[in-house]
Amino acid sequence: MQGIGAKRVVVIGAGMVGVCAASYLQRDGHKVFIVEPGEPGHGASFGNAGAFNASSVTSVSMPGVMWNVPRWLFDPLGPLSLRWSYLPMIAPWLVRFIRAGTPEKIHAQARALRPLVGAALDALTPLVRDAGAEDLVHRLGHLYVYRSAQGLAKDRLAWELRRENGVEVDEFDQDELRQLEPALSRDYVRGLLVRENGHTSDPLALVERLFENFRRSGGAIEHARAVGFQLEGGRLATVRTERGEIAADAAVVCAGAWSRPLAAALGDRIPLESERGYHLMIRDPEVMPRIPTADADGKFVATPMDAGLRFAGTVELAGLAAPPDWRRARMLLEQGRRMLPGLAADHPEERLSVWMGHRPSLPDSLPALGPSRASPDVIYAFGHGHVGMTSAPMTGKVVADLVAGRAPSIDIAPFAASRFA
Ligand SMILES: Cc1cc2nc3c(=O)[nH]c(=O)nc-3n(C[C@H](O)[C@H](O)[C@H](O)COP(=O)(O)OP(=O)(O)OC[C@H]3O[C@@H](n4cnc5c(N)ncnc54)[C@H](O)[C@@H]3O)c2cc1C
Repeated sequence: MQGIGAKRVVVIGAGMVGVCAASYLQRDGHKVFIVEPGEPGHGASFGNAGAFNASSVTSVSMPGVMWNVPRWLFDPLGPLSLRWSYLPMIAPWLVRFIRAGTPEKIHAQARALRPLVGAALDALTPLVRDAGAEDLVHRLGHLYVYRSAQGLAKDRLAWELRRENGVEVDEFDQDELRQLEPALSRDYVRGLLVRENGHTSDPLALVERLFENFRRSGGAIEHARAVGFQLEGGRLATVRTERGEIAADAAVVCAGAWSRPLAAALGDRIPLESERGYHLMIRDPEVMPRIPTADADGKFVATPMDAGLRFAGTVELAGLAAPPDWRRARMLLEQGRRMLPGLAADHPEERLSVWMGHRPSLPDSLPALGPSRASPDVIYAFGHGHVGMTSAPMTGKVVADLVAGRAPSIDIAPFAASRFA
């Protein structure tokens, strides 16, 4: 029911971030409309690795990242690749990305991220309970595995950042690792387990269940693309869509990798890019890890899902429009077979499926979360990059605080869109 102080709020985009924001807004008694041209959960939230990694405080850009750029350009099948044809378009983002990787900045970025990702499961729990989706969320931790002590040494800074931010880690040697996850290759000699992390065994189903609960609780959806805003004296009057205008007291931009033009419509130039990622799934796999497991060298994750085994990861910088390079998904299968030797050497095509999605990424690995400069009524909640599933629940909570005029429970100053001005 709509109470005193209740507002008409339009949430733009029905990915994990949008449905979490819509759910938290609804819990405050607002009348909430979602504007979404497609089906809820079919953007990046569809095919990710499903990890709720409270420990994910490390920036993608780390010190020395600049020296890797030539490799990204010349190795189209490396863990990170950059298409030559897209280089002129992404060059300004790349410059900011490299600048965000200094030692001082990555420590500050990690400190800023920890409250957003650290509370993920706590912030998700009430939404999952209301939606009857407890069966989709698991608290088994996240395992990072290495093939050599040198590999682990290369990640020293990342582990330092996690520990410095209160992340507790259990280390396993080769034998202990085998007992923990018998399906893993014996080539792995070190494993680091973060027990506070969790995962969903079906990211799409999770978004759908949260959305269904939103609908059942009186929420509405308009199947349209938002294109802009009508402001009157700095206050929001309507959200403009391709199919007409919707009167609103507040709006939240959660359109993932497609949010840039919406912010631009309000005069905010935000360097949002797609970090494209891939997955490959095996239905009825011969073996699966019990715990989501990241191969730290190959930069991919193997997650046990309800529908099979999902290998997900890699980064491709090629923009929103270029067709997928499915070789990148197939290479995950090769790497996955090396990780889990109990998998068959060959699988019939009908048991395999592939997917490509767009991580909405800002150069400093932090989202844009907070009011737009043109109006306090339009709130940005996009750009969560590699950690959008994890940070969505807390983002939703922050959005509800901002719409209600409450001080958010975490510091959102580092997420201000104005940092790019
Ligand atoms: C391979 C891969 C693995 C990943 N693994 C993980 C992981 O393990 N853990 C983790 O935390 N994160 C992970 N991520 C990142 C995570 O998937 C994203 O950060 C997250 O899904 C972003 O959610 P979102 O709601 O912002 O965007 P999306 O899910 O992309 O949703 C945006 C929605 O906005 C809609 N939209 C677009 N334009 C408009 C418009 N003009 N008007 C209205 N609606 C619009 C779209 O149709 C879409 O439904 C991974 C990503 C990839 C690609």
